[in-house]
Amino acid sequence: MRGVIMYGPGDVHVVDREDPKIIEPTDAIIRLTATCICGSDLWPYRGIEPVDHTPMGHEYVGVVEEIGADVKTVKPGDFVIGSFVISDNTCEICRAGFQSKCIHAEFVAQTVGTQAEKARIPHADGTLVATPGHPDEDLVPALLAASDVLGTGWYAADAAQAGPGKTVAVVGDGAVGLMAILAARELGAERIIAMSRHPERQKLARYYGATDIVEERGEEGIARIRDLTDGYGAHSVVEAVGTQESFMQAVGATRGGGHMGYVGVNYDVQIPGIQLFFAGIHLLGGPAPVRRFLPDLIDRIWNRTIDPGRVFDLTLPLDQAAEGYKAMNERRAIKTLLTL
Ligand SMILES: [Zn+2]
Repeated sequence: MRGVIMYGPGDVHVVDREDPKIIEPTDAIIRLTATCICGSDLWPYRGIEPVDHTPMGHEYVGVVEEIGADVKTVKPGDFVIGSFVISDNTCEICRAGFQSKCIHAEFVAQTVGTQAEKARIPHADGTLVATPGHPDEDLVPALLAASDVLGTGWYAADAAQAGPGKTVAVVGDGAVGLMAILAARELGAERIIAMSRHPERQKLARYYGATDIVEERGEEGIARIRDLTDGYGAHSVVEAVGTQESFMQAVGATRGGGHMGYVGVNYDVQIPGIQLFFAGIHLLGGPAPVRRFLPDLIDRIWNRTIDPGRVFDLTLPLDQAAEGYKAMNERRAIKTLLTL
């Protein structure tokens, strides 16, 4: 099969990879219908995360080709979506709704690499969810978004307790930030403030439900949020970038007793303890337990209540993956969909 291998930082190749096979009785083999490039794939691309001939990709939708002897909830021919973290969905942590921290958790990015024609998905019963049937072609991008960016944005909005009567501020206008805006709207937030200075992304933020745009960053950005909320700060803040400035901007924009959901992968962030202490806020974040939200998200997409597929603003065949990485790295594209 063909698949993406990153040889080193900035060095993306589409090469022949060995076809995956069933190894454990709980595995499934899927044939990908579509896959995509994630903002977090840019960390190894930029040399921030180690990379050496690594199979890439962790978002996926496709059709089950083969299942192991113990797989019960999906069968060959099913159209399925899975989370970017493998989970058994039965352990105590999974049952508490934190499947990304499952005792059997594995990152699809590190072990599988779904920017490929096929993938072996371990713990298929606990990881994959079948759709009610084969989707219309125009629903495929939306379903693919549920695999990570929509699920992650939704988790962030949920962690920030976005809901009726709440003012939600979203730091970050990448795909996850935009999906957090959509989630906040669906969860009934009264006011949604997008922090963005990119005109095209501001437009998309408004499409997904932003009521206000704040272009200022850092201390000025915090001051603007305070101005817009009678000095209080937002009830709910989503951090979807993962830099020092964006993280502290999110902390500062959250009102005392408010909730912050942080889902930006934050390699170099140092959180000053004393600032966090005096902020007096709730914090919840980390890799999103997408599996918790998948059935509900699939339902909303299937019924065409939500349209997360618009975050894909570049579509390329798998063989042109290198250009997809380049476009995202240069911020010419929000998110690249790869067709097979
Ligand atoms: Zn588990």
